[in-house]
Amino acid sequence: MEKPTVLIIGKPNVGKSTLFNRMIGERKSIVHDMPGVTRDNVSSTIQWDDISFTLVDTCGIFEQPEDNIEERQKKIIFESLKDVSLVIFVIDGKIGLTSEDYHIADYLRKTNSKVILVINKAENFEKYELEMKPEIYSLGFGEGIPVSAEHNKNIFTLMDTIANTLKTSGLNSEESVDSEKDSEEIKVSIVGRPNVGKSSLFNSIIGSERAIVSEIPGTTRDAIDHLVTMGDNTFRFIDTAGMRKKSTIHYASIEMFSISRTINAIEKSDVVILVVDSTEGITHQDKSIIGIAEKRGKGTIIAFNKWDLVSNNHQRKEEFFNYFEKELYFVNYSPLVFTSAPKRWGIQELITAIKEVEKSRNKKIPTSALNAALEKYTLVTPPPIKKGKRIKFYYATQVGTKPPVFVFYSNLPYDIPKYYQQGLRNMIRNYIDPFIGSPIFLKFEARK
Ligand code: GDP
Repeated sequence: MEKPTVLIIGKPNVGKSTLFNRMIGERKSIVHDMPGVTRDNVSSTIQWDDISFTLVDTCGIFEQPEDNIEERQKKIIFESLKDVSLVIFVIDGKIGLTSEDYHIADYLRKTNSKVILVINKAENFEKYELEMKPEIYSLGFGEGIPVSAEHNKNIFTLMDTIANTLKTSGLNSEESVDSEKDSEEIKVSIVGRPNVGKSSLFNSIIGSERAIVSEIPGTTRDAIDHLVTMGDNTFRFIDTAGMRKKSTIHYASIEMFSISRTINAIEKSDVVILVVDSTEGITHQDKSIIGIAEKRGKGTIIAFNKWDLVSNNHQRKEEFFNYFEKELYFVNYSPLVFTSAPKRWGIQELITAIKEVEKSRNKKIPTSALNAALEKYTLVTPPPIKKGKRIKFYYATQVGTKPPVFVFYSNLPYDIPKYYQQGLRNMIRNYIDPFIGSPIFLKFEARK
């Protein structure tokens, strides 16, 4: 079997060569601050875990703006991508996305390449989180992996992801079959503070009839995920702090709440279940955890666990529902499930909710329905006047799924007030589809 080829691609100056060098652990290509300074394709064999691949630094296939790329050169790009197992598409986490990035993204889509999006220069985490992240989804390659090639941050995660992607895309079997399988798997993490009942709930889920459970290596070192098959559905429960407690001797021990491990698990998930102890209520920590999931475009579900311990629980669902809507208003689209691990209340509901939320994240709204809703909405709720002009929307379309991303073309794309953005989000949920459990991302662009 031939070694798979992994190609690093990106516009000039995003740090491809620095990343290449960081990944191979030696300085092979020349790095310089000027665009286009590296001349030749450089390649190197890399061994990571039990995977071996050839890493190629393209050094400037895309060094020219789209308009200047000659037909012949375009052909070369298309041809070379055909032989590539995986593309590492690098963008600049400092500058943000430019039209060049979108052009490259288009090429990659056209060639059906398997892509891992890498956001380099992401050492300024806050700027990256707040300003770039929502935009990144619009490229259509998911949330990407933030790294800093220069400061050696998160490179191991990238290497793990590459190795895992190569493994799961089946080097010796038919790629399409395997990647389909991969996408059918719903990745779920159960998060929450210690002792809220995460591992009890997990055990109740895998204790359901029909559940076939196997332990598999997780995507990070030492982690063990659980693959749970129920009928036609496969769920991968990501190993999170506290989930496997029962299988260790420290069953009852109070463990440290580990936010970084939680974030890590959230990043790998499609759907995040936040478990809240109903007798204690929603805490500040719960809010930040679910906020992280929302910002990263994950599906969210809230489980009010230990519901059996709430007095008069039968009459109090509405009260708790209102409480949830008030405290977690920013994810008020999430399903709320009342659970009890020992009494097995709400377990089936939880499984149904996972499936429904994942469906929402994958949903694609027809452009015609979206624009009909937009027309109606702007008539009933006219956009405000900014810079002496009324904000106008020409057209809207959904450009991404997992999570859903919508682009609105406008005369004043940078002046849409937050409240009106929220109004448009509500418009989508109320007029078109509730997108249960899924966040919705909006982008505003100048008229095309
Ligand atoms: P974790 O730290 O979040 O994984 O919490 P555990 O699953 O270890 O649960 C902590 C404690 O709460 C254990 O003593 C469980 O038996 C208990 N517990 C968990 N879920 C429930 C529930 O729904 N009802 C009741 N009454 N007790 C629960």
